[in-house]
Amino acid sequence: MAKRYNPNKCKINRNYTISEIALLYEVHKSTVKAWLRKGLIKIDNKRPYLILGGDLRQFLKDLRGINKRPCELGEIYCLKCRAPREPLQDSIVFESESSTYGRLKGSCNVCDSTMNRYFRLADLAVLQRHFAVILPLQQKRLS
Ligand SMILES: [Zn+2]
Repeated sequence: MAKRYNPNKCKINRNYTISEIALLYEVHKSTVKAWLRKGLIKIDNKRPYLILGGDLRQFLKDLRGINKRPCELGEIYCLKCRAPREPLQDSIVFESESSTYGRLKGSCNVCDSTMNRYFRLADLAVLQRHFAVILPLQQKRLS
């Protein structure tokens, strides 16, 4: 799994040199140069290159998005497997979390750990079709 860099570590109104970014994120300067080639925006072409914190933050957020593994319909992301997995059919439970959102719970078909997926209640019918199970929505008990 690719290393994750916290986009909020840099200040959006500050300018950073390549060395400062390398120091802040504990990466080699060549990693920051690679980020520039991948689309990180520098303020101008004058050396030393300066990068606006806001641009760095956005770039790191985008980088995170690239590494994100989207779930297919009928899959839930398993934190233990670090991959989208199909839940065991008889483990699937639909719960309402609020008047607009619900939570789908199921057990991973590989490692058997519990997986969660949040969804809009408006999408319930479609989602239930993809998980090949039509169960009544359970109201979450207030305890
Ligand atoms: Zn799993």
